Amino acid sequence: MRKRARETADQGQAGAARRSLLLSPAALGELLAALLRRGYTVIAPTVRDGAICYEPVNGVEELPAGYTMELEAGSCRLKRRGDEALFGYVVGAKSLKNYLHPPERRVFAAERDNGLFRILPEQTERPRFAFLGVRPCDLAAAAIQDRVFLKDRYQDGEYRARREAAFVVAVHCTEPAATCFCASMGTGPRAKDGFDIALTEIVEPGRHLFVAEAGTAAGAELLAELNASEAPEELCRAAEEALERAASSMKRRLDGDGLRELLYERFEDPHWDDVARRCLCCANCTMVCPTCFCVTVEDTSDVTGRRAERWQRWDSCFTQNFSYIHGGSVRLSPKSRYRQWLTHKLAAWVDQFGTPGCVGCGRCISWCPVGIDITQEVAALREAARTRA
Ligand code: SF4
Ligand code: SF4
Repeated sequence: MRKRARETADQGQAGAARRSLLLSPAALGELLAALLRRGYTVIAPTVRDGAICYEPVNGVEELPAGYTMELEAGSCRLKRRGDEALFGYVVGAKSLKNYLHPPERRVFAAERDNGLFRILPEQTERPRFAFLGVRPCDLAAAAIQDRVFLKDRYQDGEYRARREAAFVVAVHCTEPAATCFCASMGTGPRAKDGFDIALTEIVEPGRHLFVAEAGTAAGAELLAELNASEAPEELCRAAEEALERAASSMKRRLDGDGLRELLYERFEDPHWDDVARRCLCCANCTMVCPTCFCVTVEDTSDVTGRRAERWQRWDSCFTQNFSYIHGGSVRLSPKSRYRQWLTHKLAAWVDQFGTPGCVGCGRCISWCPVGIDITQEVAALREAARTRA
């Protein structure tokens, strides 16, 4: 990650304890304006097409003041809140993945002219994103994608450039959605690291404030520009209590104890047939998952055969072509594809990258059109293991 940004604020302040600062909604607007002045494309939640989306914004007035998203298995509804909270929702379909590892990008273009073939120069200027309102689960997901793209034998230069240039303003979660289970995955509701600035939003009758802390020297520098005062002890305590309430209010959980071994052992369990009867193989779960990273490569040429392009596009283990090898697909049935997805996420991922590939964001539950719930499928497999031995 960006070397300067990943120098922690504590290091930058010679070991001084992190300071908690008080920001008003107006000061948050100044923070956003300062990011725009620095040349960042600011990506933040905003209401668009009847949903809260994660899109470029140009001012604090574009944030979804007073809105939330009610999330349940197979459903996602935009709703009015009874207050003017700016981050009163949890996650939308998009995450940092959409910008750091975009759904499609041209790898190169080539041209044939007078019998000569040449690769055309690519535009080298890359977007610099400032992500505002990043949830702790999505920070954990970005750390997993870092492991995949930057810390293995092969590295993704495009991802590295976008990631290193990024500025992250996280928001700790005080109101989890019904689909959240980050507490059981150890990824929330408080962001531990990976941010430049972290905010806790306090919305109560008569007051609407943010407690801000810097996570890097770059974050501390930006906060210093806002001339914010120290947050009073009472407000910091209220923020801590809100986070504790959030952790204990989560209804869903995923029990990871011995899960890797269980999934390998239950490879032939009849429960996979049960989930296969429901799964449409639509691939939504992999598209919205902030850690799924699979891509395919497509080559195209124009009708004259003079110009060709190579594109990288997101792919999914739920498509038949994904497992195509010399003459046929290996995973022909929905059963084999769902089993591949879940077993990779929660077992093989641990062998490959050292952690599970799930951070408990709950997106795959909400955006599954038939409401298949990863926490329930794991619980069902555990129950099957208990009763069928
Ligand atoms: S598997 Fe589902 S809950 Fe886990 S990180 Fe992916 S989308 Fe979120
Ligand atoms: S689990 Fe749900 S979202 Fe995923 S492929 Fe099956 S039907 Fe689609």
